[in-house]
Amino acid sequence: MSDRVLVIEDDPDIALGVRTVLGRSGFEVTTAAAGREGLRVFHRERPDIVILDVGLPEMDGWMVLERIRELSEVPVLMLTSHGQESDKVRGLRGGADDYLTKPFGTAEFVARVQALLRRPHAAAAAPDVFSDGRVRVDFVTHTVLVAGAPVELTPTEFRLLAALLRHRGQVLSPVKLLELAWSDPFGIGPERVKYSVMRLRRKLGAEPGGDSPIEAVRGFGYRYRGAE
Ligand code: CA
Repeated sequence: MSDRVLVIEDDPDIALGVRTVLGRSGFEVTTAAAGREGLRVFHRERPDIVILDVGLPEMDGWMVLERIRELSEVPVLMLTSHGQESDKVRGLRGGADDYLTKPFGTAEFVARVQALLRRPHAAAAAPDVFSDGRVRVDFVTHTVLVAGAPVELTPTEFRLLAALLRHRGQVLSPVKLLELAWSDPFGIGPERVKYSVMRLRRKLGAEPGGDSPIEAVRGFGYRYRGAE
């Protein structure tokens, strides 16, 4: 199976050039011309690597990177416009794996993409399975067991659970959860988050008033119970 690349770049000439050169090298390429659209495609397609332009309209590349990093260790190659040191430092601190300054040569670009895909990134960084004895989540197959019994979650509920687990023990506000778990959080209100969390809590803690590991912290938000 060929590796899938998501290119988030608003400059149509560069997007086309990158798509062409990657396609020729055997990659399956999807492009998005803006940050929000890119995030939507990212959540839908789960690409193997992301090529991310820094200068995007509305939501810039740094914000997109932050959103991607909340839920994924996918390799990200940033494209910067000027060879600014500050961009480089910011990119590597923000979780980018590599960066290239435009204009760049196609041979070097493809070599960098291939090098990132060879890195044993995800397996080491994020465990495939979470278990606290009662709740077991398999992040690869997206299956959830509660006390050994399978539980059906919607994709949003699964992302919500993944976000809470990733920040285990921390209280996350509805606004933060909206950012982390909804692929297109714009136009959705915190009420929707509360409703989804309520359903998720019910699914994880079968008995009413019972033993859901997700705690509501009045006035602040929600947290997945930390390790005791
Ligand atoms: Ca740009």
